[in-house]
Order: sequence, then C-alpha cells, then structure tokens
Amino acid sequence: MLKTAPVPLGFAEEFSAFLAPIKEGKRQDLYVFEPPFEGPQDGNTEYRGQRVIMLTSNNYLGLSTHPEVIRAMKDTLDVYGSGTCGARLHNGTTLLHKRLEERVAEYFHTEDAVVVSAGYMANLAAITSLASDEKSVIITDQLNHMSIVDGMEMAKGQVRIFEHNNMEKLDYILGRSESFKKKLIVVDGVYSMDGDLAKLDEIVRLAERHGASVMVDEAHSLGFFGPTGRGVSEHFGVEDKVHIKMATFSKSVAGVGGCIASDRDTCEYIKHVSHQYIFNASLPPSIVAGVLKAMDLMETETWRREKLWHNTLRFRRGLMELGYDILDSLSPVIPIFIGDDLTTMRMTKKLLAQGVYIATAIFPAVPMNKARFRATITASLSDEDIDIALDKLKQCGKEFGII
Ligand code: PMP
Repeated sequence: MLKTAPVPLGFAEEFSAFLAPIKEGKRQDLYVFEPPFEGPQDGNTEYRGQRVIMLTSNNYLGLSTHPEVIRAMKDTLDVYGSGTCGARLHNGTTLLHKRLEERVAEYFHTEDAVVVSAGYMANLAAITSLASDEKSVIITDQLNHMSIVDGMEMAKGQVRIFEHNNMEKLDYILGRSESFKKKLIVVDGVYSMDGDLAKLDEIVRLAERHGASVMVDEAHSLGFFGPTGRGVSEHFGVEDKVHIKMATFSKSVAGVGGCIASDRDTCEYIKHVSHQYIFNASLPPSIVAGVLKAMDLMETETWRREKLWHNTLRFRRGLMELGYDILDSLSPVIPIFIGDDLTTMRMTKKLLAQGVYIATAIFPAVPMNKARFRATITASLSDEDIDIALDKLKQCGKEFGII
C-alpha cells in the first residue's frame, strides 16, 4: 500500500499538461529515454538480455572497465568505506582528494585545482564565484552547455551571449563591455551537442586585446585533444592564455566529479566562496581513487586516444558516405541530423531493437526541430562494431527517407 500524499496542491493541472506528450509517447512505445542497460559502458553492453553496440557513451578512452581502475576503487573502499558523509571544508576531505587536486594541477600545468562532486557543479562553482557582483560580465557562446547557462543564471554578474562561434560578435560585445571591471569569456572547448570546437586561438587574442579572462570547459576534450591530450587549450597552443580550465571526471576518466584548474589564489577563492564546494558532500574516496588511476592510464596508455581517433574517423567517414548530415563535428561527439522529433525517436527505437544504441537529442537539449542522434565514439568500439552500426544506420536511414 502506498503511503504518499497526492500531487502537491496546485500542481496537478500543470503536471498533467506537461506530462501528456510524455505519457502518449510511452503509450505508443516511442519513449526512448533512459533505457535501463544491464552492462558496463563498453563498446558492447546489454539491454533486455541482448548485446547492444554502445554508440552514445562518454567513456571516451574505454577506462570504465579497466582492471586497474576497478582494483584501485575496491581497495579504497576497504580503507575509507563508502562515503565521506560530509563537505570538503569539514570532514569531507581525504588525502586522496588532496592528491587528486595536485594531480589535476600537474596535468593541466596550473598552480592549483579544485575538485567538486560533479562537472556540472564545477561550472556553477567557477562562474558564480568569479562573476559575483555587478562589476562583472560573463560573455558566452549561445551553444554552451547547460551547466554554464545555469552558472550564469545563478551568478550576480551581467550576461552577454554571442552567436555560435561568431568572433565578430564576440569582439563587438567585448568592445561594449569596457565599463565592467571583470570580464569573463566562458566557452565549451568541444560543443557537447554539435561536436565542433571553440575558436580558442581567436578567443584568447580578443580576450587579450580587451582585457578579459578566458574559461574553457574541457569536458569533451580531456585526454584526447592536443598533442598530449590536454584538451582544446593544448590543441590550439594557448594553454598559458586560458585562465581557468574546467573538466569533468565522468567522461574520459570514467568516474564522476569535476575540477577547476587555475592559479593558486583563484582556486583558494573558489573553495571559500562557492556553494558547490562548501555546501555539498564530497566525492566518495573510492571514486577519487578510480579517477586518480584513470588519469595515470590516460597518460601511459596513449594507444587509447589513437584508437578513439581511429574509431571517430571511421564512423564519420561512413556516415558521410551514407549521406548523413553530421553538421560541423570535428570530435568524437558526432551529431547525426534528422530534424523531426518523432522520426528521430522512431529510428532510435528501431536501431535499439536491432542492437545499436544511439541517443536521441531533442528540444530543449538542442533547438526546436533540430532533433538528431547524438553519437559519442569511444576507444572500446571495434572496427566490426562500427561497421555493423553503419550498416544498421544505412537500412534505417533509407527506410525513414533520411538518406
Ligand atoms: N560540461 C559539458 C560540456 C558537458 O557536456 C557536461 C556533461 N554532459 C558537463 C559539463 C557536466 O559534467 P557532469 O555530467 O560530469 O556533471
């Protein structure tokens, strides 16, 4: 017997209007979100007892099932137990959290780093701390990740948005922001829905000219962009011109959590100002140990990033040969443009039934009528997996009149 009060008073009408299309989608068996997988995030996983080729996972380097990562996590559980049961400034900091901050700083060649419990929160923490009053302005690309958007909404500073990758607009906004004491440009290194890159070389040049600081979200580039995998800042050779690098531990290093790498004072300031650091329980030590191990492997097992790029190029080439529109993707984030929401959902269902999972992205994750599949390629996929997936995409694309 349920022991719960009914829908909170006054909400019923709103909920039923909002939920109607979702319920209808479920009724028609078109609901494509949160399929409950029964295996790890490798090139192959399981769904309803069947093998599925995983084409949307951020496990870019395939480290989530690495035996050394798993061993490090298990060993740490034995010593530290399951959780820290507290926030960083009180009981929630262990030697491992400190070690991870040092490791992140060393990795990004910065003086210091701050570790928080999610990449989402790292963006909130950095942006709300740095744009904390009306003397600050945050200048940002229109396609930035929602964690940046939410950070801006929470921050006290003013917000200016420039058209995606339009450097003339950025220049114009900077020119009109002279009155602000603190100007912070925030961009994704790799745009998480389109898979294209920020024009970081031009952005840092404009920032220098106008006396602005630059923050880059390296969520989809950590470990595989740039000559040694240090992200889009390294790719463009501008590491020393970027003031704040943000990254998440939930993708290439296959754990969870987020970090901000910067100079010592900025990090110290964020730790003592940001609500995400102060008022949130810290990461479980086992997670931290897994991330530390994965960072080592990311540096030593360099074949992983080579494999990732090999797979990315193979899949991209195949899609283009089939006639799919992959927008301007230049990364393992590969959008496959479909347009109509319902068609995209029907195709997702069909593909999943045939053993290929590619996530659907519809509004509000992408603009209205710009529905797409959002593939993210990993090093765990084999050539055969990719070719099978391309073959299924060929049949499905023809059946639905997309290619
Ligand atoms: N920034 C970007 C660009 C992202 O794509 C994501 C996650 N999708 C985040 C930040 C948030 O990271 P996390 O999921 O680790 O909280």
